[in-house]
Amino acid sequence: MRDALVVGGGPVGGQAARLLAAKGHDVLLVEEHARVGEPVQCAGLFTPRIFDLVDFPLSRVHLNDVRGANVHSPSGKTVTLDGGKTMAVAVDRGEFDRQCVESAQRAGAEVRTRVKAVSAERDGAGLRVKLRLADGSVVEERTRLLVGADGVQGQVAKWFGLPRAREVIPCYGAQVEGTKLTPTHVEMWVGRERAPGFFSWMIPTNAEGTAGKVEVGVDVKAPQPARFYYERMWKDDASARFLRDDAYSCFDICACIPLGPIKATTAANVALVGDAAAQTKPTSGGGVYTGLVCAGHLADVADAALRDGDLSERRLAEYHKRWDADIGRELYVGWRLRKAFMHLRDDQMDELFALLDDPELLGMVNLLGDIDYPSRLARPLLRKAPHLFKFSMPFVRSLFD
Ligand SMILES: Cc1cc2nc3c(=O)[nH]c(=O)nc-3n(C[C@H](O)[C@H](O)[C@H](O)COP(=O)(O)OP(=O)(O)OC[C@H]3O[C@@H](n4cnc5c(N)ncnc54)[C@H](O)[C@@H]3O)c2cc1C
Repeated sequence: MRDALVVGGGPVGGQAARLLAAKGHDVLLVEEHARVGEPVQCAGLFTPRIFDLVDFPLSRVHLNDVRGANVHSPSGKTVTLDGGKTMAVAVDRGEFDRQCVESAQRAGAEVRTRVKAVSAERDGAGLRVKLRLADGSVVEERTRLLVGADGVQGQVAKWFGLPRAREVIPCYGAQVEGTKLTPTHVEMWVGRERAPGFFSWMIPTNAEGTAGKVEVGVDVKAPQPARFYYERMWKDDASARFLRDDAYSCFDICACIPLGPIKATTAANVALVGDAAAQTKPTSGGGVYTGLVCAGHLADVADAALRDGDLSERRLAEYHKRWDADIGRELYVGWRLRKAFMHLRDDQMDELFALLDDPELLGMVNLLGDIDYPSRLARPLLRKAPHLFKFSMPFVRSLFD
């Protein structure tokens, strides 16, 4: 019987497999696609601190450095944020995933691609997992621990009755050649016409600003699908001015972001991690940093549990407690900020932009803004500018409707 079977060869599955294998456990990672990292379904904008968690250098995947963002309001007002130093890096996301999974292999994990986990059931002290191979045949593996790192559409949670994300954001986008972007700045748009319930963005993926990720995410109840708003980005002057006439898409991206932390991420012999556990930041949808952090907690708890021969629900729940104690508050604060954002009308967003366009407040945002930890900014900002509280009122009122 294996010690751990990890379902999913994304960055978080790769990290969990690496850490468990490095602790001496017999680990199998299965990925349904033929090549890890493909298709790419991400913007690939990370904070540099991610490279403190993985065991390969940024240089292997680095595309561009980003210092700030130009955020555009519904009526076209722009607020420019600039941290004055590299605040985020654009990376080759496909290569990032491959590096994570190759690290797991180097640590001793077995990796099999074109293998899909199709079901799992209890079997004595462990689980029996059915795996479908590329030729359609089905084989079985027995494991003491099943790690569901199978992303937003993950099935492991379903098999064991674990909860799903509170909300899912459909996204559409592309890697585009022929952009006219400021190389150091992301462009972002909010508002009902351009990205109802979320935002759209362009991320420069080279130091010239001539290539970039062009993407949009929308509320699942938006009047049109995400692809409609993506196509609008090519026509709408507010965004089209960043695209040359001969700009073209190299590959399209069509995926969902899970939002809203869940209350249980473990069952006996089972743990969820990454997008499968909705460990994404509700304000930005970024999930790689938080997923990697949680994979670290999972590996620590699972290592001790495997050594003690106790994979009970109670024992594995320690993992849920640990990740919650570490980043849970950040995710819950982010979830509340998202709810407040969802209740803002376009004219209120414009008003908010006008208030934020204040040198003192912008200085604070530039100093304290951190896409991994937005709550570090929220509290001091509200203390400095208590009038911003009124933008949370539509949300607060909705709680009593
Ligand atoms: C448009 C978009 C842009 C984004 N931009 C950013 C960003 O800039 N920065 C950021 O930090 N995050 C971003 N995210 C979020 C980020 O992509 C995810 O949080 C991250 O991929 C989560 O990693 P994961 O390993 O948990 O899941 P995934 O990367 O989804 O990996 C899950 C893997 O499991 C495999 N799998 C699923 N089911 C099975 C099965 N039954 N058997 C075998 N294999 C299976 C899948 O093929 C997949 O490879 C973005 C998301 C989207 C949709």
